[in-house]
Amino acid sequence: MKTTEKIKVELANLKKNGAEYADTRFYHSRETESITFLQGNLKECRSSGTTGIGVRVLYNGAWGFASSSSTENLTAIFDTAFENARAASGRLLFPVKLADRKPLTAEYISPREIDPFDVPITDKLDFLRKIDAQLKHDIVAQRVSYITSDKQEIIFIDTDGSHIEKNVCDIFTGMKVIGVEGDGNSQERSYELGGNGYGTRGWETLVSDDNFSKNADRIVDELSKILVAPHAPKDTRSVILLPGIMFLQTHEVIGHALELDRILGYELSYAGGSFVKLEDFGNLQYGSEKLTVRADGTLPNSPGSYGFDDDGVECQNTVLIEKGILKNAITSRQTVVEANERAGKKIFDKSGGCARASNFNRTPLERMTNINIDPGEDGSLDDIIASTEKGIVLDGARSWSIGSNREQFHFANEIGWLVEDGIKKGVVKNPTYSSDTLPFWRSLSAVGDKSTTELVYVPNCGKGLPSQQMYLGHLIPVCKFDNVTIGK
Ligand SMILES: [Zn+2]
Repeated sequence: MKTTEKIKVELANLKKNGAEYADTRFYHSRETESITFLQGNLKECRSSGTTGIGVRVLYNGAWGFASSSSTENLTAIFDTAFENARAASGRLLFPVKLADRKPLTAEYISPREIDPFDVPITDKLDFLRKIDAQLKHDIVAQRVSYITSDKQEIIFIDTDGSHIEKNVCDIFTGMKVIGVEGDGNSQERSYELGGNGYGTRGWETLVSDDNFSKNADRIVDELSKILVAPHAPKDTRSVILLPGIMFLQTHEVIGHALELDRILGYELSYAGGSFVKLEDFGNLQYGSEKLTVRADGTLPNSPGSYGFDDDGVECQNTVLIEKGILKNAITSRQTVVEANERAGKKIFDKSGGCARASNFNRTPLERMTNINIDPGEDGSLDDIIASTEKGIVLDGARSWSIGSNREQFHFANEIGWLVEDGIKKGVVKNPTYSSDTLPFWRSLSAVGDKSTTELVYVPNCGKGLPSQQMYLGHLIPVCKFDNVTIGK
């Protein structure tokens, strides 16, 4: 009997024995490969292949979970998951109920022309060697570049009759140059592969144009300017955030703040809660009228698009904030029911399809899909600069710290350019900015048009205990915020 048929037999047995619901994620193949070049040398070349299965059982309102890298004794895995659910069911504060959804028979294959695992390793080394040679320069003390590829083939089956097969392949590539100033302090400039959110997401995204080559020259040039630049001022002015920092601004104090498990108080491990309350949905003015944010898991070319989540719910395009007003959250089947019951009214219609686990041996949590900001009507980057009296253009994330409930933040950037009377001036070093979350988003005064928009991939969003690293993306325009404290 095929493994999937055996899984269906085990699921039927669980139902017969009193389980309310159960699902399995069978990873019949997962391949990862990571290659890093440092200072002209191959620093690391690592590849791995795994298989495994994770089983979730709901019994008397409690989850039980078990997983194994072997599918040889499936009955033992299912029995352990059921036993865990039974043990947990006596210790519940809030019984788990799952929002309705239609069981699906479906398939999702992430779009690609060339599977990175079909590309010879020599081609990948040649690609990185070429980039490395381009980054080599007198002012560059250290240069690093990398390619990471991941392909997951997963079959999701549940007791409702769902059968979903996924083949999701992602590739992440980036480079960084570090220089040392006369006083011994270091400066850095980096670039990560992104795109525009459309097209494919295979090996061809690296090699089909001279994107990497152009950006290699640009970051070396910018580093040379940072190394001799004056310090950024300490004052209050408009900040114009390019996508290379705007994505993180959105990630940390919109994305994480709107995960419904955090809002319900469940996820407190990574600077963990949220200032958002259930009564805020439909009312809270999160930002200015120019702010419309969506969780869009349907964007073709992004690691935040995966077809169907680990509850078996299809990816969706959900408006989270509409013209500044908070409308929705990053949700799963479980949390929408609990949130509605706790609020005593229907806030959420259905699951937003955002339950994801990072591997077969982890349980699904609310995770960001692609948390995007709609482009605006304030023109190009040049238009935004031209309409700014006193400002600073910022790019690149060097370090950041966020309040424990995402209520305030401080970001340090790789590079800044001062803006005076509508003119972009020279580079300044060590720029930083900080603010409280809501006043900051309410001070959003310009949103760039589509020409300013870039998709930034995030390969390392951390959440949960035990830790789960997740892939996602942000499709983000240039944005301007007024009266922001910088340099403190
Ligand atoms: Zn994150």
